[in-house]
Amino acid sequence: MKIIMLGAPGAGKGTQAKMLAEKFNIPHISTGDIFRANIKEGTELGKKAKEYMDKGLLVPDELVVDLVMDRFKADDCKDGYILDGFPRTIPQAEALDKALAAVGEKMDYAINVDVPDENIVNRMSGRRACVGCGATYHIKYNPTKVEGICDKCGKELILRDDDKPETVLNRLKVYHDQTQPLIDYYGKAGIVRDVDGTVDMNDVFNAILDILSK
Ligand code: ADP
Ligand code: AMP
Repeated sequence: MKIIMLGAPGAGKGTQAKMLAEKFNIPHISTGDIFRANIKEGTELGKKAKEYMDKGLLVPDELVVDLVMDRFKADDCKDGYILDGFPRTIPQAEALDKALAAVGEKMDYAINVDVPDENIVNRMSGRRACVGCGATYHIKYNPTKVEGICDKCGKELILRDDDKPETVLNRLKVYHDQTQPLIDYYGKAGIVRDVDGTVDMNDVFNAILDILSK
């Protein structure tokens, strides 16, 4: 099964993608996570990506596409995957379609997690990410047992630089300009399914499972 998670930054794509990956035992591929890992390791790619990420801009397509295509070659992708944060532009979607078509494959679903802009700043300013394992929490909607400490690995939690309100507004604009058109793009391919992302995360998950079972 090959799934794309669509939705604004902070809509809950990562949260749902992790739950789906666990349930179906397929990898969760987050380009944002890959860039953050590169930044942490101080790679050239990480240095380049950081310049854009800190401003709330998209990393150029040419730095993203090859990265994902390479990731697909790994053994764990043979039964499918969940894409989170990719594709984010029409050229990225076209590159993905082309690469899949070349091997006789296609995406099965594009799940659009719908959350209005008014909720997004609140979601992102409350998001906390673990510096160790990358798990994400929310101070109000999904708190850790001990404040500031990851439930899974015990490391410290941080507010991502690009989750600060001034950057979030930029990211939302970029989303509407460059990523939202993908809903139409995949709509034309007949694979978009909308879910209400404003309800409890377990209810969002059940709505997605319901879609996938049909
Ligand atoms: P995205 O991957 O789309 O950027 P995340 O999955 O990281 O978004 O979610 C953004 C923030 O909102 C996180 O702090 C997460 O814990 C929280 N969150 C995710 N889904 C929900 C939900 N259904 N209700 C409330 N908060 C949520
Ligand atoms: P995310 O973790 O998905 O919210 O991504 C964080 C940031 O990484 C984005 O704001 C972009 O700067 C960058 N990024 C992640 N995925 C992509 C992508 N597919 N194309 C361009 N930039 C991306």
